[in-house]
Amino acid sequence: MQPRGRRMTLLPRRTLLIGSAAALAARGAAAAAPPFAGKQTAEIYRYRVGNFELTALYDGIWYRPITDTFIGNAPFAEVEAALADAFMPADKLATPFTALVVNTGKRLVLIDTGTGGQIASSAGVLRANLVAAGIDPKAIDLIVISHFHPDHINGIRDKDDDLVFPNAEIAVPAAEWNFWMDDANLTAAPADLKLAFRNQRRIFSGIAKNVTRFEPGTDVASGIATLAAPGHTPGHTVFAVHSADQSLLVLGDTAQHPAVFARHPDWQAAFDIDGAAAVATRKKLFDRAAADRMLVTGYHFPFPACGHLIKTASGYEHVPVEWQPNL
Ligand SMILES: [Zn+2]
Repeated sequence: MQPRGRRMTLLPRRTLLIGSAAALAARGAAAAAPPFAGKQTAEIYRYRVGNFELTALYDGIWYRPITDTFIGNAPFAEVEAALADAFMPADKLATPFTALVVNTGKRLVLIDTGTGGQIASSAGVLRANLVAAGIDPKAIDLIVISHFHPDHINGIRDKDDDLVFPNAEIAVPAAEWNFWMDDANLTAAPADLKLAFRNQRRIFSGIAKNVTRFEPGTDVASGIATLAAPGHTPGHTVFAVHSADQSLLVLGDTAQHPAVFARHPDWQAAFDIDGAAAVATRKKLFDRAAADRMLVTGYHFPFPACGHLIKTASGYEHVPVEWQPNL
């Protein structure tokens, strides 16, 4: 109801739109063209587990070319359908990399080290993100490694082979060291796997005596336990970070992109050294995480790479975390 004495001016809607568009155009012409940024911002996500402060650091992404030999136990048409369902390209597997810094209040621990800019031109920003997060690489005092594939260990060194974290102890799974550092295994390996063996010798040359080797079930730091998770590689290891009454399962490569391997947990990928064991490990850990509603992070999950897993009729669904403005 209109107040008495006041008359409403009815402007035809079309006139109104033309009028405001013209006004906007006039203002736009007067202002400088807004510049495009043309690059991404720092890729950092910080969260807490109990009294620990965690920093997820993006290292970039590699689009791994795949063919019909990628999944050994499923028709490629099913793999293509899974990729299409996830809005992913059909001939490539999106492979993002996210490393994790755990500040326990006593130690600054880096879990896996990124690609060191040595895998793909679209990856290698971990160090820049570390600095953007206010963490000096010299302040990292322990590096723990899930397994010896190059995208997890290459960040120990830069492209010039210099150590990126000069003050850090390095702790690795004993089973992983024993498998990859065995020269008989190198000799017996197929040509493409020999590259991985040679890469490990390059990374650990000169520092091997400073590398400690842990058995699964032991703690690498107070509040960071280790669990054997074999299959992807023989010594592949998962970490359980726990503080106060909270915990986080650091899944490493138990599953790569969840849109493919959480939804299809039975799939055995060409990069798994023992595909059947990788599947058994994946289901065991995912069942536990889903049942206990645990927070999980996966090295190749989309950034910030942490969330929860729900059990579905045919597999699991990854539910990413909501961005937390406050810690
Ligand atoms: Zn990996």
